[in-house]
Amino acid sequence: MSREAALAVAAKWFDAGRLRSILAELVAIPSTSQEEGREPQLRRYLEVGIEPWLRRLGFEVVIHDNPEPGYGPILTAQRIENPANVNVLLYGHGDTVRGLDEQWSAGLEPWALTEREDRWYGRGTADNKGQHAINLLALEAVLEARGGRLGANVKLVIEMAEERGSRGLREFVAAHRALLAADALIASDGPRVQPGVPTIATGTRGTFHFDLVIKLREGGVHSGHWGGLTRDPAVLLAHALASLMDRDGRILVRGWLPAGGVSSDVAEVLAGCELAGGGDSASIDAGWGEPGLTDAEKIYGWNSLIVLAMVSGRPENPVNAVAPDARAHCQIRYTVDSNPTGFEATLRAHLDAHGFGFVGIENASVRMPASRTSPDHPWVRWARASIERTLGKRVQVIPNSSGGLPGDVFVDHLGVPLVWVPHSYSGCQQHGPDEHLLPGPAREGLLAFAGLWWDLGEKPA
Ligand SMILES: [Zn+2]
Repeated sequence: MSREAALAVAAKWFDAGRLRSILAELVAIPSTSQEEGREPQLRRYLEVGIEPWLRRLGFEVVIHDNPEPGYGPILTAQRIENPANVNVLLYGHGDTVRGLDEQWSAGLEPWALTEREDRWYGRGTADNKGQHAINLLALEAVLEARGGRLGANVKLVIEMAEERGSRGLREFVAAHRALLAADALIASDGPRVQPGVPTIATGTRGTFHFDLVIKLREGGVHSGHWGGLTRDPAVLLAHALASLMDRDGRILVRGWLPAGGVSSDVAEVLAGCELAGGGDSASIDAGWGEPGLTDAEKIYGWNSLIVLAMVSGRPENPVNAVAPDARAHCQIRYTVDSNPTGFEATLRAHLDAHGFGFVGIENASVRMPASRTSPDHPWVRWARASIERTLGKRVQVIPNSSGGLPGDVFVDHLGVPLVWVPHSYSGCQQHGPDEHLLPGPAREGLLAFAGLWWDLGEKPA
């Protein structure tokens, strides 16, 4: 059999609806890790959705309890043909964010795959069920084409707590180093830079969270008798936030940013990288963010500050009162070029220097650390060449995904280079209602991975 024949098997299966029907079964398991009472579904996803498939492909499978009580289980699997072979580690997560059932458009729902206008809707289609299903189906196609032999060893981790910050994964991987030892992590999550542009991300941005809090009194006081006399926490909080970022989205806490600006190797790999808008979900606003950077540099080579939520009083039930307090929950997305251990002290000094000594900082911590493999790493170059050969078009390499993933865990404990090959796009609404996967990029991803699996068995990287 030939490489072309393996790709043809993958294409035939996709066109016959095989990926879609596998994904429909996975989406129908409501495995959200963010809603109470769904714990049995987390285990069911692994036991019913994934394990039988892996066994059919010749994997040994174990489902482990999460070392952190109360968090979802972790599946490991391995398919060792010859200990001397190259070992590739796959990763995926089978948990999803909450369903947000009542917010989906008419006729759509989170826990059933619905095809409409060339989109596959359903919770987890993009994040992450569709992505690891693509990679496993591609493996199956190559095994079919090679008569059951791959020519490489494959290991797999599927966690069920990614949407709760991958709790327990770090301890788990540290405790199972030998089991998971591999030459490279090749896995999929997140968006391509544009729907039609195959992408390799060699790391992820990290996330740092903090609350800004103003507490002025125990309860609200009458807005007629006190408005104009006593300080308003909502207004003060708005000013404190405005001291962190100007009205054009430029971060004013300069100590949070990469000291030397966008590094030259990052700028080089991002040269010519164009981003697409998010379809109907969001627009790229010219003039928003750090002046002088390209759109790609803003999200792959720089840090972002986002106010995730803010509240004062009860917006759903306002009363005539000056509110007692105000709170904003904020997030910094940062690259490996900045050091988050200094973020809180830098913020404190900034607030004090701007007259906001009365604004408290609470719950400041890293949620997911940043990670990066050199975009010029031999494994990255190998994967890029393989995908370009399969798809006949240029692959865009980015130094890290704009979003977060627990890549740092695998770098720290297994020392593997990171090769993320995302199959989704930034308009997929993966954390809101109407999450969907585009069949076009999914088909390309299936072929790309069939090519990668085939090439792995031909000659080690
Ligand atoms: Zn997610």
